[in-house]
Amino acid sequence: MEGNRQPEVNIGLVGHVDHGKTTLVQALSGSWTDQHSEEMKRGISIRLGYADATFRRCPGVDEPECFTVEEECPDGSASEPVRTVSFVDAPGHETLMATMLSGAALMDGAVLVVSANEPVPQPQTEEHLMALDIIGIDNIVIAQNKVDLVDGDTARRNFEEIQEFVAGTVAEDAPVVPISAGQEVNIDLLIGAIEAEIPTPDRDPDADPRLHVARSFDINKPGTAWEDLAGGVLGGSLVEGQLEVDDELEVRPGREVEEGGQSEYVPIETTVRSLQAGGEGVDVATPGGLLGVGTGLDPALTKGDALAGRLAGPPGSLPPTWESFTMEVDLLERIVGNVEGETDVEEISTGEPLMMTVGTATTVGAVSSARDDECEVRLKRPVCAEPGAKIAINRRIGARWRLIGVGTLTD
Ligand code: GDP
Ligand code: MG
Repeated sequence: MEGNRQPEVNIGLVGHVDHGKTTLVQALSGSWTDQHSEEMKRGISIRLGYADATFRRCPGVDEPECFTVEEECPDGSASEPVRTVSFVDAPGHETLMATMLSGAALMDGAVLVVSANEPVPQPQTEEHLMALDIIGIDNIVIAQNKVDLVDGDTARRNFEEIQEFVAGTVAEDAPVVPISAGQEVNIDLLIGAIEAEIPTPDRDPDADPRLHVARSFDINKPGTAWEDLAGGVLGGSLVEGQLEVDDELEVRPGREVEEGGQSEYVPIETTVRSLQAGGEGVDVATPGGLLGVGTGLDPALTKGDALAGRLAGPPGSLPPTWESFTMEVDLLERIVGNVEGETDVEEISTGEPLMMTVGTATTVGAVSSARDDECEVRLKRPVCAEPGAKIAINRRIGARWRLIGVGTLTD
């Protein structure tokens, strides 16, 4: 066995429902998923919609045919590991943009999955691409999936439709790779494209560790005796620095405390008890990729994603917690996705409710003052974020929240 390899980059799987995102994650994670047997790891990978994969290469074979996720090459020789990555798949309710947007905060790049047997674009193909644009994710590979379902002419026409659709967008220069995730065709070409387009970002290993918490949970079986209870688990990604077992952690905004009808958020402090990365326990977690952090917290505090959207780092190192903030606003010209009627984006007005995604946090706020391209919002739930943070802004239109623009947190 080779040593543990920690994932070093997060790759988002985005695109319209049923176009094959989850199937592609399975095809790319290969036999690796078999190792996710430990309870904690299983909880994290399923609930986060995450899976790790080690891209490998067969020695003596040219690119991109050399790329594989199998440990054994077609000629029987052993493949060599190239890079371990984490995939962020949109779990479950694909049409919920909040889920996609909070996942986007963790993505270093994305694979946009587009089905070859449907007209381009389908609503979430367009909406997810717009979200990548807004969050600033420009390392993109397009997987033209399900080519096994269409004939050659249809595949070529669909390929051209994809190219026309992405012209002038953030994905304009993204390679389009025809694949079949279901039949595992051209997976080598897709890995080659990901290797070329989605590099591991440069990160400062000496920076204070900063964990974006995307999910949180209680891994104990119901009825576990008090003395056997495992502490609360945080799932997310380290964007900077390293985290070690026994490190002290502060979690902000922390937890809600009610007192005399008033609610207030108080930061939580705890200790790192265990770390899970790349499919096993580690003493030191490096940035990038999915991480599970076992803590000393009462699992009741972390149950059911109660701490999703928080930031964690060494006590005293975290950015401010905002109950209201001012943001510079850049609105879209039109609303994308499946909208009936008017699609122009109206100016933001004082008093209107907005849903905002800041990092992995989703919060609703009311606009307390709106000027030309700046507005002030009072949040229902505070967020912890650096000034300058990007904010995805959504407005309620009809039955759902629609992406209308991007904000930059000023103060
Ligand atoms: P998601 O909603 O984007 O995650 O899509 P899924 O991965 O759940 O796939 C939706 C359906 O399409 C499932 O029934 C898959 O088996 C099927 N599917 C996915 N990829 C392919 C493919 O390459 N070829 C064919 N024929 N079916 C596929
Ligand atoms: Mg899926």
